[in-house]
Amino acid sequence: MNVGIIGGGIIGLSTAYYLSKSGHEVTVIEQGDLKDGCSFGNAGMIVPSHIIPLAAPGMISKGIRWMFDSTSPFYVKPRLSWELLTWGYQFYKHATTRHVVRSIPALKELSLFSKARYQELARELPFDFEYHERGLLMLYKTKETEHEEAETARVANDHGIEARILSAEEVQQLEPDVKINVRGGVYFAGDAHITPQTFINGLITFLKDNNVKFLTNTSVRNFSVGNGKIQSITAGDNNYAFDEVVIATGSWSGALAKQLNLNVPMQAGKGYSFTISDVKKNVRVPSIFLEARVAVTPMGNTLRFGGTMEITGVDHSVNMERVKGIVNSIPQYYPEMKVEMPVRESVWHGLRPCSPDGLPYIGRVKGIKNLVVATGHAMMGLSLGPGTGQLVSELINQQKASIDLQPFAVDRY
Ligand SMILES: Cc1cc2nc3c(=O)[nH]c(=O)nc-3n(C[C@H](O)[C@H](O)[C@H](O)COP(=O)(O)OP(=O)(O)OC[C@H]3O[C@@H](n4cnc5c(N)ncnc54)[C@H](O)[C@@H]3O)c2cc1C
Repeated sequence: MNVGIIGGGIIGLSTAYYLSKSGHEVTVIEQGDLKDGCSFGNAGMIVPSHIIPLAAPGMISKGIRWMFDSTSPFYVKPRLSWELLTWGYQFYKHATTRHVVRSIPALKELSLFSKARYQELARELPFDFEYHERGLLMLYKTKETEHEEAETARVANDHGIEARILSAEEVQQLEPDVKINVRGGVYFAGDAHITPQTFINGLITFLKDNNVKFLTNTSVRNFSVGNGKIQSITAGDNNYAFDEVVIATGSWSGALAKQLNLNVPMQAGKGYSFTISDVKKNVRVPSIFLEARVAVTPMGNTLRFGGTMEITGVDHSVNMERVKGIVNSIPQYYPEMKVEMPVRESVWHGLRPCSPDGLPYIGRVKGIKNLVVATGHAMMGLSLGPGTGQLVSELINQQKASIDLQPFAVDRY
């Protein structure tokens, strides 16, 4: 078949990989230049540990407290937007224990499925994307966070995800080269990490070498639908016809899906990262500073810090106050590490595609026979990318999906 994939982030590219592997002619249509999207500068963590969705009890009160601090990790830009209001209402409705309990098995299954795909890719692909299985350390400084994280560890262990509670000394033993100042931590042994820009750039080259076509700087504006199918796509100045169409447009998916009269609630959650190079004494295990919500990932002899979640709509401005929040947190956890405030030009930002219930959208939709939607992976798109790509290819190949896709139904709102 001739398949058109809209969006060249981790989800679109992974989908292109599995579809081209199963013999289809694939075209990726991307509005940008494939040089610096949300899938490039992220923290590179592959996180089967993250089985609790963002919409969870306690998130709303925490979010409200953070709203009043300009350096805090979370912010919602107040604006008169129907999409934001309805998204906020859905988030509020889903921030319940019942929703969390229902979502955990689904997220766990998708995460483990995707990690297994990374293990295969690390063996199969002809380039090294620095896949390492060193786990993830969740670090805390306060008693309150210690209690919360102990509960997360208990839930994880109950669901078969190994989580070990460590004292400050045990944390330090895992990091012989960097002094750590914490009350303790939880170690998730099953997590992994990669260097995302190496993976994405390598994948693009590999796909091009394997006859996947790329239309870059080409924005899909509209669709022509007839007989229950997408007959053509208007992109740039041209129309294109495909047997199957995949929408993998990240934070832009809500607006694009509207062109097809589909309700796919989505908000962009902006985050920042910066990377320090030539680090002589580097961190070994990717870590999250829990109170500061900052992710830290070693990538070769560089070290990347990422964080913040600003619900600001599709907005590419860089708020240096929030970057300062990330920088200020570093000496609190790594007291001997001196990190200067980066200049604005070296700060990367990305827009995480956030669904209101914290679960991605993966599947077909009623009424349009040749469309698959794959988006809304929020903070876990890199982690869940290859798994999602394989699932989309199973749908298009009319095979039974490897995991239950019901929790990710596109038309659940
Ligand atoms: C600071 C930060 C740290 C993160 N850390 C991690 C991490 O450690 N682990 C993890 O799993 N995830 C992480 N994430 C999240 C992860 O980066 C995202 O979930 C992921 O990149 C989303 O991928 P995507 O393909 O859905 O969207 P994108 O990468 O945004 O790709 C969508 C593409 O669609 C294109 N597009 C949109 N509309 C159109 C149109 N109309 N026509 C043509 N093209 C269009 C866009 O230009 C874009 O390139 C992090 C994110 C941030 C911001």
